[in-house]
Amino acid sequence: MATKKTEVSKTETSKAQQLRDKLFSKKKHAGLRMTDKQIKEAFDYSAKYMEFLGNAKIERDAAEYTIAAAEKKGYVPFEKGMKLKAGDKVYLCNRGKAVIFALIGKKGVKDGVRISAAHIDSPRLDLKQNPVFENEEMAYFKTHYYGGIKKYQWPTVSLALHGVIIKADGTSVRVTIGEDENDPVFCVTDLLPHLAQDQMKRSPAEIVRGEELNILIGSMPFKDDEASERVKLAVLSLLYDKYGITEDDFISAELDAVPAGKPRDIGFDRSMIGGYGHDDKVCAYTAFSALMDIKKTPERTAVVILTDKEETGSDGNTGLKSAYFRYFIDDLAECFGEQGRTVMSRSECLSADVNAGFDPTFPDVLEKRNAAFLNYGVCVTKFTGARGKSGTSDASAEFVGTVRRLLDKNEVVWQTGELGKVDLGGGGTVAAYIANLDVDTIDVGVPVLCMHAPFEIVAKTDVYMTYKAFLVFMGQ
Ligand code: MN
Ligand code: MN
Repeated sequence: MATKKTEVSKTETSKAQQLRDKLFSKKKHAGLRMTDKQIKEAFDYSAKYMEFLGNAKIERDAAEYTIAAAEKKGYVPFEKGMKLKAGDKVYLCNRGKAVIFALIGKKGVKDGVRISAAHIDSPRLDLKQNPVFENEEMAYFKTHYYGGIKKYQWPTVSLALHGVIIKADGTSVRVTIGEDENDPVFCVTDLLPHLAQDQMKRSPAEIVRGEELNILIGSMPFKDDEASERVKLAVLSLLYDKYGITEDDFISAELDAVPAGKPRDIGFDRSMIGGYGHDDKVCAYTAFSALMDIKKTPERTAVVILTDKEETGSDGNTGLKSAYFRYFIDDLAECFGEQGRTVMSRSECLSADVNAGFDPTFPDVLEKRNAAFLNYGVCVTKFTGARGKSGTSDASAEFVGTVRRLLDKNEVVWQTGELGKVDLGGGGTVAAYIANLDVDTIDVGVPVLCMHAPFEIVAKTDVYMTYKAFLVFMGQ
């Protein structure tokens, strides 16, 4: 009797197990799903991404880097009215800070285009237009931070300076200083803990105030007993010798202080990458390199947008709220005798931006069942927005279904995740601005730890799977 009972329960367990296998969602670490060969491919691919990341600190760097790489692959500047045929490769650079690349497909633009969009600006400290000052024989730059940062994270980090200066005569000087190991770097100072009692009583947002984010740039005086502000004078004299600029030239400059140095492998197993600007260079690079790696001319035209100003709300003529992307599609459509709006309505877009990765040290802010985890693949996010999905574009179930089938069919490891618990906050991406043009749009991206910090972390398998997702989306 007892034996028989055990048998029944065994059968029941296995039936439950069968049902469980059939019905339950099966999430698995990419390290357990990928073969050793695939993992090696992911690590090798990540090395190329790290090379890009170390050289593309600001949007101008990323635009120059990608354009140079694309030109080597045969991409030429797009011109209104040009004759285009399948296999042609064009790009449009918007003011040196945003770029659109297009690979013309066999069907031209008749069935719409496949768009992959990411942003190439990242949070940082921008110099004010009148930045140089001296205080107690120390010289500084005043800054206005760019994007959403925790201000207290930015002091005591070695900083490099990237950007451009337009001189009084109209000539421009490109600046990159602090990246070569022989270059000097710069730094925002902080108080020693011994004397920080009052500072530590400030609210976290005020531990370091915006006007305290001053960058130390010199401490040696110009040798002249009569002169005032001798340290500032000595610094400006060095800048004049090196770049031929005067104090007023900063007014027509864009100079950005960003963490200096190259990205690094993280962990004994080297499975992660630490570096500045993963948000959103990691999606920019994966989208861009996927386009570059498409071997066979795709059916539909593939378009990659690398945009600027996402971190400040996408406004301005290089942000995706501007008409530059729509104008490009209008002009591209015209080359094929089509209307831009018809092309838009038939198009599909992966709007790629990083997502918050689950951080076991701070588990409370994410809802685990709907959070993105490192090493669980590219994250597909149906909707963004905050508090009642405010500001979301919310991809339709039908389009999510299309993307899901595409990724599964091509064995791309992917997951779904939402940015944070419902009432805690959230964030937006450029998805809404593209969806507003009547394009089927969904958010995808790489989970990140320490997002918007001077040193952000991603996992190599996720980077690689994001690249694969773009490749199958645009390359088919
Ligand atoms: Mn972003
Ligand atoms: Mn961001």
